[in-house]
Amino acid sequence: MAIDKNTMRSNFNEQIQLILMNKREDNNAFLSTSDYSRVIQQVKKSKKSLNTVGEKKTTKDYRVIRKYDILVMNGKEHLIRPIDEKNVVLYYATIDELFDILYDTHSAIGHGGRNRMVSELKNNYCNITNETIMVFLKLCAECHKKTVCSKVGLAPKPFLQPTFNSRAQVDLIDMQSQRHNDYRFIMNYQEHLTKYIVLKPLKSKCAEEIAYNLIDIYTLFGAPTILQSCSGKKFVTSIINKLNVIWDEIKIDYGWPKHSESQESVERTNRDVQEMLSAWMTKKDSLDWPSALKFIQFKKNRTFHSGIGTSPYEAMFGCTARIGYESNLPNTEITKIKTKEDL
Ligand SMILES: [Zn+2]
Repeated sequence: MAIDKNTMRSNFNEQIQLILMNKREDNNAFLSTSDYSRVIQQVKKSKKSLNTVGEKKTTKDYRVIRKYDILVMNGKEHLIRPIDEKNVVLYYATIDELFDILYDTHSAIGHGGRNRMVSELKNNYCNITNETIMVFLKLCAECHKKTVCSKVGLAPKPFLQPTFNSRAQVDLIDMQSQRHNDYRFIMNYQEHLTKYIVLKPLKSKCAEEIAYNLIDIYTLFGAPTILQSCSGKKFVTSIINKLNVIWDEIKIDYGWPKHSESQESVERTNRDVQEMLSAWMTKKDSLDWPSALKFIQFKKNRTFHSGIGTSPYEAMFGCTARIGYESNLPNTEITKIKTKEDL
């Protein structure tokens, strides 16, 4: 894996160098580390002359502060695009950082393709071009494998149910080989219209434990008319029976997973979840996947879903997800920086 990543990195950097050779010296998108520090110094200088009475103000000063600003975080100066009324922080990335940013984003969204990569990156960076993203994606061996596999099967089509909660699916991901604090399975629940998922750690496969977790979801979002699962009818009916014991008003029917496309989409979701989880565990150097699930769930729901043309979160709530005062932190790491009280 490490060798693959290093090979990928050097291939990527080579191709970026080729692109740069064909660009003008003053291109805006690519910043070398020295350009980056030079711009930071220039921004400071321009800000100072614009704010100092009697100092000469040049058009360059105005041009610079229209394009750039500096955000100091943990003592480090970051070059950002000036924050607009939407309060969105967009970072400039240096050429040296590109590979790691693309690699981490790509792993974190479970090897998401071009649309998901573009939509994820444009939330956080203002100078990563589509061309750069495509160079990266073409180099990902995992993604090549995936394309070959999906061409063999049915072409995935967007699959929409007429209304919210008309159908939902519950599946288990086996984590027995990575058992943590007695947790052995992941319950992956997905509402079909919005593709919104809920992930819960389970100690067993027993219907009762699953039913208790579903009640948590149903008392928040309501229950679906039809519940289905890759694990079949017996599994679902035993869950429905337990649900009826806990909550006698609930009326859910078993449904066959009838569309192969939707089945494929569920399998893809399960695979994405596992990949996102293993990326998280590597990054945090932790085995505590049960604690990670909430964050993976939130991240997956905020990620662009090509089947519905938006993120599940937006499909569900009609707006983008906020995480407090700063609405747009880098998605790969949700860090608390400032609350209103801190300011
Ligand atoms: Zn990939």
